[in-house]
Amino acid sequence: MNLESSGASLARRRASPSRWRGRLLLAACIAAALIVAANLPAVKLLLPAELWRKVPPVVSLHPLVAVKMKTLKAEAAAKGIRIAITDGFRSETEQDALYRKGRSAPGAIVTNAKGGQSYHNYGLAIDFAIRAKNGDVLWDMAYDGNRNGKSDWMEVVGIAKRLGFAWGGDWESFPDYPHLQMDFGLSIPELQRGHRPPEDLRLAEERAQQAGGKA
Ligand SMILES: [Zn+2]
Repeated sequence: MNLESSGASLARRRASPSRWRGRLLLAACIAAALIVAANLPAVKLLLPAELWRKVPPVVSLHPLVAVKMKTLKAEAAAKGIRIAITDGFRSETEQDALYRKGRSAPGAIVTNAKGGQSYHNYGLAIDFAIRAKNGDVLWDMAYDGNRNGKSDWMEVVGIAKRLGFAWGGDWESFPDYPHLQMDFGLSIPELQRGHRPPEDLRLAEERAQQAGGKA
């Protein structure tokens, strides 16, 4: 390549406004495509929710889970079973402390979920146990305090499932017998990205029923 021809091509590049117009148009098209893509449900699932809306931290049980918990207590009481709710909403810090049990802290392993990986961290899970007549909290799944020939524990599980809870005792890999949760069709990764069930009780009930039907 000689000097004269490279000089000539430089001049041609400088004197080519249509090329710049083309690039601007391409950039505008890419930007528009990104805006459209970011609003598609499938793409939204992959993006952190913080990118398009503020997600307030969860600090308590979801209102519908709280209502169902009360109903569960009342329906169990009607069968002569008192239940103790041993855990509900759990902060990520509390979850991390629980995760350390049996690992870097003494005791047996009680969970495989770190902070943000449990439905408790989103106010969507509760843990129960049976309260004996003398007030003791029991984790004895065979206990039949109301003497109807059925395990009180499994009677409570039966009521809970009818109310829309999923039972941790059904999990094959790491069964969690005291655990009841309502996931509203949301996975932990979705919750971590900021997706939340509706707060409104009626909408939440609808969503829970849709999610239950899918499962
Ligand atoms: Zn639990």
